[in-house]
Amino acid sequence: MTNYFEKLKLLSTKAYAPYSNFHVSAICLLADGTEVKGVNIENAAYSVTICAERTCLAQVYTLGYQKKDIIKFFLYTDSNQQGSPCGTCRQFLWELLGHDVPIEIYNQKGDSYVTTMQDLLPYGFTKEDLE
Ligand SMILES: [Zn+2]
Repeated sequence: MTNYFEKLKLLSTKAYAPYSNFHVSAICLLADGTEVKGVNIENAAYSVTICAERTCLAQVYTLGYQKKDIIKFFLYTDSNQQGSPCGTCRQFLWELLGHDVPIEIYNQKGDSYVTTMQDLLPYGFTKEDLE
């Protein structure tokens, strides 16, 4: 059985976070067993910083996979607190991740909880809202 906590913790060391020193990692598990990874990438112009959730999911789609291929999403924050995706990532995930896909979130102590997009963003904005 894969120890995602250890994988995520190791992956988080690859985050580029010289400003916040807040290291975050994400792993997207796909139905074919592929694991797609992402970390947060900061920038001196803070607003162009990108979170681990978005670097991970962007890569999933870049590799040719889609929402239907994703069976689980893992997230790790280098924090004592229980982390959760920021508002921008919630909207990003709402569009690109199945709303009932389990999202398992770890902190640096190994504490975790499982949630879904349905719980994180119950009234997410969709393309239907554009009609
Ligand atoms: Zn975010």
